[in-house]
Amino acid sequence: MNRIKIALVGLGKIARDQHIPALAANPAYELVGVASPHHQLEGVPSFPSLEQLLDVIPSVQAVSICTPPQIRYDIARLALLRGKHVMIEKPPGATLSEVAALTEIADRHRVSLFAAWHSRAAAGVEPARDWLAPRAIRIGHIHWKEDVRVWHPGQTWIWRAGGFGVFDPGINALSILTRILPRPVVLRDADLFFPENCAAPIAANLLLESQGASIRAEFDFLQTGPQTWDIDIETDEGRVLLSRGGSVMHINGNSIVVGSDREYPRLYAEFALLIDERRSDADITPLRLVADAFMSGRRITVAPFLE
Ligand code: NAP
Repeated sequence: MNRIKIALVGLGKIARDQHIPALAANPAYELVGVASPHHQLEGVPSFPSLEQLLDVIPSVQAVSICTPPQIRYDIARLALLRGKHVMIEKPPGATLSEVAALTEIADRHRVSLFAAWHSRAAAGVEPARDWLAPRAIRIGHIHWKEDVRVWHPGQTWIWRAGGFGVFDPGINALSILTRILPRPVVLRDADLFFPENCAAPIAANLLLESQGASIRAEFDFLQTGPQTWDIDIETDEGRVLLSRGGSVMHINGNSIVVGSDREYPRLYAEFALLIDERRSDADITPLRLVADAFMSGRRITVAPFLE
């Protein structure tokens, strides 16, 4: 079997926690290099930038980008223009127009672009989608509340413009919601809470609608104690609750699916398939809802965030 020669860009938390183990466990890939300004990976040729990596290892076929969103476009564009297949962490861009441009470049160069929504690969998501398909939604609630100091320590990019703030995790909930509901989701109202010293929100309340039913979402970055990543949908025929970020599905209070953490192995299996079939998958739907919230939401200033 010809293994896909892949390079990893951005050697931070998610690259080390998930991408490197998933690549090591998948025989379809060979990790031939990493690019990160300040870090190297032992045993793998390491470079401060993708440009330098590609100059030394031009045989790279695919690039997986795990940097913060603000700098992802230039890196992805360079890789696509050099004819490399590209997988990008969520969110796929800092803006919608970036993703549209990347999609066009990928199509023109006949390479695959994969905007990976890791939460959609959680074990309960596809079963919940199947269960919801024939039912009418009455009301929904999303509670996506975590402690930023635990999950994003020292990540200053998250508080800068284009860093998404609480939407960095919140967009995962929106990626699940837009996958499991059979009809489009519309943003109707939003309150965004910005710390006075930050350019990105620390909390957000959204009112969404699908099939005429209301779905309220509460995103909070200051949740101490138990952390909550739940989506609860009531229908005309019972209720589905996705908890623990989509890995557990309950129907009418009974747990039906309890999955192990297989999100990143699934994403890399999907990327290999897309490359094999020369297809792209760059769904912007969750990013569009976040953009809508920034475009139409009320901005409320709150106390400064001090780490
Ligand atoms: P992080 O720990 O801050 O890591 C980001 C890395 O990007 C840094 O280590 C930095 O490398 C690198 N970088 C910065 N500028 C670069 C450049 N010009 N070229 C190459 N690399 C560059 O952030 P993270 O938590 O891994 O998050 C990264 C992305 O993954 C975000 O979009 C986030 O939403 C997504 N994600 C994160 C998690 C999570 O649990 N943390 C989960 C799922 C998805 P140096 O340190 O070498 O400067």
